[in-house]
Amino acid sequence: ATAEAAAPCAPLTAQDYKSDYKPIWCPGCGDYTVLSSVTKALAMLQLRPENVAVVSGIGCSSRIPAYTACYGFHGVHGRSLAAATGLKVARPDLTVLVASGDGDGYSIGGNHFLHACRRNVDLTYVVMDNHVYGMTKGQPSPTTEPDWDSKLAPGGTGLRSFHPLVIALASGANFVARAFSGDPNGTADILAQAIRHPGFSFVEILSPCVTFRPEQRGWKERVHAAPVEATDDPARAARRIMTDDGFNLGVLYAGDRPAYPPPARAASATVADLETEFAP
Ligand code: SF4
Ligand code: MG
Repeated sequence: ATAEAAAPCAPLTAQDYKSDYKPIWCPGCGDYTVLSSVTKALAMLQLRPENVAVVSGIGCSSRIPAYTACYGFHGVHGRSLAAATGLKVARPDLTVLVASGDGDGYSIGGNHFLHACRRNVDLTYVVMDNHVYGMTKGQPSPTTEPDWDSKLAPGGTGLRSFHPLVIALASGANFVARAFSGDPNGTADILAQAIRHPGFSFVEILSPCVTFRPEQRGWKERVHAAPVEATDDPARAARRIMTDDGFNLGVLYAGDRPAYPPPARAASATVADLETEFAP
């Protein structure tokens, strides 16, 4: 190697992970600070942007890949986890982040969510949850409170809210955490842990939609650190989460289930190896 190539590189900063595109979210949207937290987490881990891919579906939150300097894929509605799973299995050397929202991730993509947890591929799934479809003008989403009164659902839907963290645990996610966009440093720390943790890591980020749910600005008064340490027992974690107030922040579950695919012979086998092994 030349002396130049051998010279140590300057550490990457959060700015190095940002693209030149200016985000077009509404002023005050929580997704701005989620973007900052993602770039801070990548800088904490000193991952090279070209070794990271950010995959998304459709919605305000799904704009994130365009705002990073990493590889990105902005796919169809609800299918980000399917695309990301294929990418990670084909390119296990990449760090793959998946960005979604409560509509894209839990409704249109709900089935993919269950099976991504179950498969436990080494992905980090970041869902910006604001309990509403923001991009399409404020319809109730799976996490909307049953009594949220709006022009599109006068008097509320009356429907029980989806409980993503518990569903993730029941489906086999290997890491479950809750974060808040108004705490970018805390969120970056959780994201860094999620990226480092093997298998499917799920980070639910409470990220206010100030346009259609302006009352969510009050979430900053309600969030607090989880009162107990993360557990490695999914049933215990699920019981805690079912009875918490929905504003506990932190890593709530960290399991040790082996990621899929296992580092098996097949993953590294060459065609010549297989021809020899399976020769008649
Ligand atoms: Fe953010 Fe809501 Fe505006 Fe979408 S509609 S950019 S979620 S504030
Ligand atoms: Mg939403």
